[in-house]
Amino acid sequence: SSPSRITNFGAGPSALPVSVLEEAAKGLLNFQGTGIGIAEISHRSSEFTAFVRNVEALIRRQLRVPPTHAVLFTQGGGSAQFSAVVMNMLARYRLLHPDVPTGDVTMDYVVTGSWSKKAAEEAERLGGGQVRIVTDARKHSVSGKAFDNIPPHSAYAFSKDPALIYYCENETVDGVEFSHDVASSSSFPYHLLPENTLSPLVADYSSSFMCRPIPRLGDHAIIYAGAQKNVGPAGLTILIVRQDCIVDVDAAVRCGAAPVPITLSYKTLFDSKSLYNTPSVLALYMTGLVLERMETMGGMEYYEALNKKKAEAVYEVVKVGSSRGVFKPKVKEGSESWMNVVFDVIGDGAEKRFLDGAAQRGMSGLKGHRSVGGIRVSLYNAITEEQTQQLVQYCHEFIGQETT
Ligand code: PLP
Repeated sequence: SSPSRITNFGAGPSALPVSVLEEAAKGLLNFQGTGIGIAEISHRSSEFTAFVRNVEALIRRQLRVPPTHAVLFTQGGGSAQFSAVVMNMLARYRLLHPDVPTGDVTMDYVVTGSWSKKAAEEAERLGGGQVRIVTDARKHSVSGKAFDNIPPHSAYAFSKDPALIYYCENETVDGVEFSHDVASSSSFPYHLLPENTLSPLVADYSSSFMCRPIPRLGDHAIIYAGAQKNVGPAGLTILIVRQDCIVDVDAAVRCGAAPVPITLSYKTLFDSKSLYNTPSVLALYMTGLVLERMETMGGMEYYEALNKKKAEAVYEVVKVGSSRGVFKPKVKEGSESWMNVVFDVIGDGAEKRFLDGAAQRGMSGLKGHRSVGGIRVSLYNAITEEQTQQLVQYCHEFIGQETT
């Protein structure tokens, strides 16, 4: 319906459904018949607070969030959570173990790519405990320096009673991901769920949030995601937090923990129903529209099937290109992300030819992250099967051109 739009395979902010954008445009002028636009209405108005409660309900229903967990909204993106999870979980640990010396407090980080590496670096920077890299996926790569795999279960050495165990479910830059086939896959991080249930499992789901059901959601202490990949525009961060991880951070200070900025405290968010201060009103609104549409389409089961199909189609053509010496997959089999497919185009100037050809056909956002280069195809929820097929078709053409 919008011929001027091109297909955006970018890694985030990324494509949103056209129907949502059209509805949001109306909401910008008049939110739900109030006569006030969504960017202008008070976040304390009854219309908007009801809308926020509905966004929460849409997430709870589609992800089957158990009553043990709260759904919270905040700002600051995934990056703010790199800090917030550390501060809130150290406060929790301090309340539980007031006598453990700070130097003995451990935080276990599973490093499988650039984002979990960055999160671990922030934990290190904040101090308040020892950051232990319980696995570094680069050590398990062929080259010894690439994030191209999810290490085998034997490669993790957890602390005895860490304040948190951290992993990034889908590494957006590197294209590696933990879990696909929940029922049968050995790639799902069961090994991250410690015997000692006091060790809280924290997951960064920024780039795979709501692309399918979240396996073992109830066993996680914290799941967080920026909205700007699968469910909305930038500016909104979604948190799913187990009740026992919502702690009185000020009481923790009296036990020796570092103070937590009030807007980063999960208890502040929880007590205020995510409305302590002005939220990203527009981002919440648009996310609500996306989530409503997702539910209508068939929820997580629908998106799981769709996203699987899309990813398989792209990996298949990468394989064809690989057999003809045109493409080179970058991720080990079994660790490939459904959301971000990364590969190299082989040969002098070939990557530029690939990107130029794609641009001529109305496809953009395919350049890999600047830190790793190559091609990255992001296949978030709003990318349709037809758009995926258009890319696959182009890849076949390109392989033909390069090999004649
Ligand atoms: N975590 C992951 C997996 C990401 O992909 C990103 C951003 O792309 C971030 C964290 C950082 O998110 P933000 O830019 O919202 O701070």
